[in-house]
Amino acid sequence: MAENCIFCKIIKGEIGGNFIRRKKDYVAFKDINPKAPVHVLIVPVKHFASLENADDKDKLLLGDLMIAVRDIARKLKISESGYKIVINNGEDSGQLVFHMHIHLLGGWQKVSHWKV
Ligand code: 5GP
Ligand code: ZN
Repeated sequence: MAENCIFCKIIKGEIGGNFIRRKKDYVAFKDINPKAPVHVLIVPVKHFASLENADDKDKLLLGDLMIAVRDIARKLKISESGYKIVINNGEDSGQLVFHMHIHLLGGWQKVSHWKV
């Protein structure tokens, strides 16, 4: 838990998060400003700013996050059509929220008029 971290506040329930999945070690919720028809953030409960700040001991957690992406993509029915995952790390990448998270983006076939 880090003070003034918006994702820690969502995880703690201080700010409303429309959780798609809530587990002991991570949560998943819809991005407030979606860049794709399906845009979900997978966020570890443990606060660390970016992948750069991940510890070697976080190996299992990072693996769990990837498996969560796979399962959530299946749940949201975008596995067959395909999806992208993005992790922004640091200022140059455009990272805005400095609590590590994975963007899961897909579902373009669901919306024929979607423009990237
Ligand atoms: P970043 O650029 O840090 O990788 O992405 C941060 C993402 O968090 C952005 O896509 C932004 O729309 C999303 N975001 C920022 N604040 C909130 C919030 O309060 N709720 C939700 N659901 N998403 C947020
Ligand atoms: Zn945080």
